[in-house]
Amino acid sequence: MGCVGSKEAKDNGGAKPAKQVNDAKPEKPVEKPSAGASEAKATDDKKKEPPAERVIPQGEPIKLDELDEDFILFEPIEDHYELGEEIGKGGFSVVYKAVRKSDQGEFAVKCIKKKMVEGDDIKLLRREIQIMKKLNHPNILKLYEVYEDDEQFYLVMELVKGKELFDKIVERGMYSERDAANIILQVVSAVRYLHENGIAHRDLKPENLLSAGEEENEIVKIADFGFSKSFADEGEKLMTSCGSPGYVAPEILTAESYDKSVDMWSVGVIIYILLSGYPPFYADSAPALFKKIMDVKYDFDDSVWDDISDSAKDLIRNLLVKDPSKRFTASHCLEHAWVRGSAANERQILKMNRDNTKS
Ligand code: ADP
Ligand code: MG
Repeated sequence: MGCVGSKEAKDNGGAKPAKQVNDAKPEKPVEKPSAGASEAKATDDKKKEPPAERVIPQGEPIKLDELDEDFILFEPIEDHYELGEEIGKGGFSVVYKAVRKSDQGEFAVKCIKKKMVEGDDIKLLRREIQIMKKLNHPNILKLYEVYEDDEQFYLVMELVKGKELFDKIVERGMYSERDAANIILQVVSAVRYLHENGIAHRDLKPENLLSAGEEENEIVKIADFGFSKSFADEGEKLMTSCGSPGYVAPEILTAESYDKSVDMWSVGVIIYILLSGYPPFYADSAPALFKKIMDVKYDFDDSVWDDISDSAKDLIRNLLVKDPSKRFTASHCLEHAWVRGSAANERQILKMNRDNTKS
């Protein structure tokens, strides 16, 4: 993860595309979100391919006024867990495998250095962690316990034995639009749950999607709430310019206030990459990349899109929308025929190249 203007953002102006797309072509107008249009298309597609509607995973509602005060344990984590091999690393944290001493249960422990967090932000972070601990959804990494000492927070989480989602896809080689839709249904249902509970993730990208289970039984888990911020009421806007360059929404770049709809933009970018193997916005420098995002300059011109259903493109067009108020919400996505499994085609079409997806 990285902030706009951070070293990471500058170093990484944009992921390299697998294929060159002709920039000179005029941009197709971005369609306004219209549930009606999507439904009409869905009915069309249904005639061709009988639908097998997917069940939307549900989470448990949380009550923010019932947060327990003593959710952080100030005892040494080593008394309870044996920290093992490192399994991941991000800008502000290291993640280790861990075994609980009492019953040999396996967990992941994310260690966050406090010096990365300034003054009063520590209080905010504590509150965020407190809320995360309340979250309970099958597609969100479960946080069980939190320890704190002078230097670090230690988040004891569910261990995902699989891999980062895209590594798994690369390993599998070919997969279908239906597989992609199955992944997105899970991601979006988790995002809807977060949004319903007043939380924006703000750093949705492939590295933060972990995958457990195989093929049909694949379960995707959203990880990394390092930048998520809960907002007190619906209208409150988020003002921090953070996110990963290739996935950030235009309103973040212009430093306008923004809200949870930034996550839906990122979902649009993730779907685009899942279906094509390359990112919708890329450029050699950060300013050029930001300009493309601002202008919503992407297309479906590459031949890989020839075999992709119109329904998938319709969904992307409704997510990569500059005006956040016109962008699809998570609920719109969950009503969309492609996500529900009735419109995605089953042809084995996709081949991922990991280098193209790293933000
Ligand atoms: P950061 O906030 O520093 O990006 P993340 O929470 O995204 O940290 O974790 C960094 C990496 O560690 C992830 O991309 C993933 O590969 C791995 N990881 C994180 N949590 C888990 C977990 N619970 N189980 C397995 N791997 C994990
Ligand atoms: Mg991360």
